[in-house]
Amino acid sequence: YVVLGIESSCDETSAAVVKGGRELLSNIISTQIELHKKFGGVVPEVASRKHVELINVVIQEALDKAGVTLNDVDIIGATYGPGLVGALLVGLSTAKALSFAAKKKFVGVNHIEGHICANFLAHKELEPPFVCLVVSGGHTNIVYIEDYGKFEIMGRTRDDAAGEAYDKIARALGLGYPGGPVIDKLALQGNKDAVNFPRINLDKSLDFSFSGLKTSVLNYINKLNMVGTKIIVEDVAAAFQEAVVDVLVDKTINAAILKKSKIIGIAGGVASNSRLREKFMEKAKIHDIQIFFPPPILCTDNAAMIASAAYYEYVNGRESDMSLNANPSLRLGQR
Ligand code: ATP
Ligand code: MG
Ligand code: FE
Repeated sequence: YVVLGIESSCDETSAAVVKGGRELLSNIISTQIELHKKFGGVVPEVASRKHVELINVVIQEALDKAGVTLNDVDIIGATYGPGLVGALLVGLSTAKALSFAAKKKFVGVNHIEGHICANFLAHKELEPPFVCLVVSGGHTNIVYIEDYGKFEIMGRTRDDAAGEAYDKIARALGLGYPGGPVIDKLALQGNKDAVNFPRINLDKSLDFSFSGLKTSVLNYINKLNMVGTKIIVEDVAAAFQEAVVDVLVDKTINAAILKKSKIIGIAGGVASNSRLREKFMEKAKIHDIQIFFPPPILCTDNAAMIASAAYYEYVNGRESDMSLNANPSLRLGQR
């Protein structure tokens, strides 16, 4: 099957063509980061309007780049949640209209399932079952992928998502939006042992909590500001990042041990993080666990991962109809 994927859940307008769930033919991503930068975060209304402007152009470009026409497409898959409702509706409505007009199969896709499927595009040999850490701007989940389209959530954040924590700390340090890539880069020049920020482990639970860490970093910044001591931004970035990464890696490895799984996948925007990748490789070796992560271009929001997820949903007998609505708080495994 040839799948046209469409993604518009946040601030990326994207369309992609994927063959058979794993073969990437094109992946066009138009990011609105520059547009939202001056507001320090994504402005929903602005995002929706930009999606409307771009969606048709991006879809056409994805078809052209793949060397196909709409005629060659079998399935159209679009994100219907979670995300910003006005943003989701643009991609979803476009996909519904296109599939109705061109008589194509239509599949609504969970954005988080999409992030997980990015690993299938990047690693042809990867097959379930495995444990996957999904770390993004809005989510931090440890998911057991029992089979294609079959998920068990083993752990989730009880407050902030990992990416959200990066973005908030970056804002407090005056580093702009989005914060993850900047902190990642600055941390390379910093001393991770300069400050010992708390690792919140919640006993043996596989759940996460990042708000305590965030408060601790903010208090540290405020205290130094108050007494007029110069903040070494690189050190704060490195020490904060180390605290986040420690918890993410430890818990995911514990989850894999619990499931007797020798495979861990990592997905979502934060999966681009260089220290996270490094630490996973180090720790996994000790436990003889194999680590998979997609290249950065497939970690960030993109439609190729949505097309891949749509393929696996479809071959597992799940199709959507024209009444499908956007669901901003859609959960993984919920239909
Ligand atoms: P969700 O997928 O939960 O709906 P989202 O789609 O907005 O949220 P993504 O696009 O998957 O999130 O990821 C964006 C997040 O990833 C941002 O919080 C950003 O700061 C973070 N991020 C991107 N690159 C890095 C990096 N190198 N290190 C750490 N964080 C990063
Ligand atoms: Mg984004
Ligand atoms: Fe995302």
